[in-house]
Amino acid sequence: MPRKQNERYVKEPPRFSSFKPAGIPRTELPGTSITLDEFEAVKLADYLELDQQDAADQMAISRSTFSRLVARARQKIAGALINGHELIIEGGRIHFINNLLVCRSCGHQFTVTMETDMNKCPACGAGKLMDYAGSFGHGRCCRGHHKGNRGNHATTGSDRTPG
Ligand SMILES: [Zn+2]
Ligand SMILES: [Zn+2]
Repeated sequence: MPRKQNERYVKEPPRFSSFKPAGIPRTELPGTSITLDEFEAVKLADYLELDQQDAADQMAISRSTFSRLVARARQKIAGALINGHELIIEGGRIHFINNLLVCRSCGHQFTVTMETDMNKCPACGAGKLMDYAGSFGHGRCCRGHHKGNRGNHATTGSDRTPG
């Protein structure tokens, strides 16, 4: 029986969900999918250049799982570049920690925690927000999983405020 795969944390939704070679209609292209956890692994390791252990901690997975994840993601991305595939970011057993929202009226872009209900743009007050977590099929499912600020709650005697 396969072991149940644990849920991984992705800090916030990607801003783009598909890439393709220029000048070729999508209908003529084979596609390669990378999952949201694979995307996050490449972002943390190769874009933000985090130490693998720190990156693994942030996603709540082991270092060896992180290594396999990032290796698989690199292999798929390289294959899509070399063979001219459409690269699609979708799926994966993940939950988002933060959501990315963009106002369709003024273009204001901002992040809030997945626990926050937001239906008006804080910049212009319009009610037309594009919900990136929602576009990847996430919303209420992400709430209440993440412990949040793990390790940041510890206070030492000197910086604790009285009362
Ligand atoms: Zn706005
Ligand atoms: Zn979710």
